[in-house]
Amino acid sequence: IDFEHCGFPETLNQNLKKSGYEVPTPIQMQMIPVGLLGRDILASADTGSGKTAAFLLPVIIRAFSEDKTPSALILTPTRELAIQIERQAKELMSGLPRMKTVLLVGGLPLPPQLYRLRQHVKADTMLKMGFQQQVLDVLEHTPGDCQTILVSATIPDSIEQLTDQLLHNPVRIIT
Ligand code: AMP
Repeated sequence: IDFEHCGFPETLNQNLKKSGYEVPTPIQMQMIPVGLLGRDILASADTGSGKTAAFLLPVIIRAFSEDKTPSALILTPTRELAIQIERQAKELMSGLPRMKTVLLVGGLPLPPQLYRLRQHVKADTMLKMGFQQQVLDVLEHTPGDCQTILVSATIPDSIEQLTDQLLHNPVRIIT
C-alpha cells in the first residue's frame, strides 16, 4: 500500500510526495490506523523508523477534520527534537487550511511564544524526560476525552508504571 491510496486529504498527499514519503514505514502502518480511530497508543520505535510521522499523520488528519483549537499538544524531551517535530509538522500541514503550530521551548524569548499561543495555536512544547510529575500536571489540564500517544525508544519500567495514569486502555505497538 502507498500513501496515495490511504484516503488522506489531497493536499496532505501532495505534501507527503514532496517530502519523499511514498509508502508507510512498518511503525506507520501500525500506528496510523489506530491513531485515526482515536485510541491511546503506547509505542516503542527506534530512531529512523518514521515514528514522528507515525503520530503526526493521525494527529494532523484528526485535527483537520475536527476543527478544535488547540487540537494537539506534543511534549518532547529536548529542544532539538521539538524543533524537528515542528519542522516535519509544518511540512505535512503545508497548505491545509486553519492548521498552525507553535513551538514552546525553554531558553528562547517567551513573548513571541506567548503571542503565538494567544493566536490559539499550541502544538509543540518541551519537557525534560524524568520530569514525570510535570507531564502529569500538563495532562491534568487537557480535556478528559483527549487521545494520548506515547512513543519511546524503549519502554522502561518507569514508563510502564506511568501508563495507567497517562493512557486509557492503550493499544501497544512494539517494534
Ligand atoms: P523519525 O524516525 O521520525 O526520526 O524519521 C526518520 C526519517 O525518515 C525522517 O527523516 C523522516 O523524514 C523520514 N521518513 C519518515 N517516514 C517516511 C516514509 N514513509 N518514507 C520515507 N521517509 C520517511
